[in-house]
Amino acid sequence: MVKTIQTGNNKLPDTEKILSILNKNKKRMKMYLRICAHCSLCAESCFLYNTKNKDPVYMPSHKVINSIGRLYKKKRKIDRNLLEEVKEIAWKRCVLCTRCYCPLGVDIPSMISLARTICRSQNILPEFHEQS
Ligand code: SF4
Ligand code: SF4
Repeated sequence: MVKTIQTGNNKLPDTEKILSILNKNKKRMKMYLRICAHCSLCAESCFLYNTKNKDPVYMPSHKVINSIGRLYKKKRKIDRNLLEEVKEIAWKRCVLCTRCYCPLGVDIPSMISLARTICRSQNILPEFHEQS
């Protein structure tokens, strides 16, 4: 399990900061979430999915729905437990290699990247990550 840097770990999330990041990217992210047809074609081009015995939790569409998708769904109800789960997905299950291909144009890496940005904004980081 990826360990978290202990800075401010018991603090409540800064909801206003999270909402501001979510709102700034809302139009594009909501469009991606809406047009995803759950066809799983992107999974074929994700090497992590293929090297993890095609475990569904490594499917790109699964990763975005359960990271950035959940953040948009929960909004003001985002808590640290959810952010910890998002961290696991955004760093441990994706390396942002940009190899995943979606015929509908869903930009999966940009969605995972935004999930990382939100975690970073709350000091929720894997231990190998240097704080900026
Ligand atoms: S992201 Fe694209 S390729 Fe992947 S499941 Fe959604 S529509 Fe299909
Ligand atoms: S960017 Fe992430 S989801 Fe896309 S192929 Fe690379 S590891 Fe898989």
